[in-house]
Amino acid sequence: MYKKERRAVAAMGRQLLTSGLTAGTWGNISLKVAPDALLITPSGLGYDKQQAEDIVLLNGEGEAMKGKRLPSSEKALHIAIYKACPQARAVIHTHGVYSGAFAAAHMSIPALTEDLAQVIGGPVNCAAYAPAGTEELAQAAVKALGERRAVLMANHGAAVWGTTLEQAFMAAQLLEKAAHVALLAQILGGGKKLTAAQNKAMHVFYEEHYSKRQEGEE
Ligand code: 13P
Ligand code: ZN
Repeated sequence: MYKKERRAVAAMGRQLLTSGLTAGTWGNISLKVAPDALLITPSGLGYDKQQAEDIVLLNGEGEAMKGKRLPSSEKALHIAIYKACPQARAVIHTHGVYSGAFAAAHMSIPALTEDLAQVIGGPVNCAAYAPAGTEELAQAAVKALGERRAVLMANHGAAVWGTTLEQAFMAAQLLEKAAHVALLAQILGGGKKLTAAQNKAMHVFYEEHYSKRQEGEE
């Protein structure tokens, strides 16, 4: 069941690893395949080893359907994001270097670039610390996420969502780039933040127009 979608999740795992947005077996990916079902990467298995059959199917209660692998230990985080953001179809949890630096400092990433404002919608908050793999972390992350498509988790990493796997991956890349740019801008005396109104206008433009062009629909 969901063979094509399982293959897409496994392929995205390999892309995540080679992109440098995580290291080793950390991070995880999920894809909503039905209102009450999602596919999620297995816990602790190298992305280079993951095949379509290793991707775990979760039911509406978050229970793993038949299969030999354990679902990601962050399944509560993924489920909480889908619940809070009805438009979300894919969630990617990353352990990147630059976003990780902001998470280590418990600092939000400012909106300094228009691509971040377009896709993610503005500055990215850092959630209060909670241990990895807990419901407490899932709740803290959703609280800090707000209207944005990305959130940092203190001393841990980031989570992003998109309407497709590809869009979620792009959001993860843009988040990492924004963290890198913000750090470099500090050396130049500090970046100039986009205003709330500018962030909003760019995000609306992205949702209503630019994302459609990327999908070949406009
Ligand atoms: P999993 O291997 O269980 O998906 O966990 C990795 C991780 O990043 C935990 O926060
Ligand atoms: Zn993690």
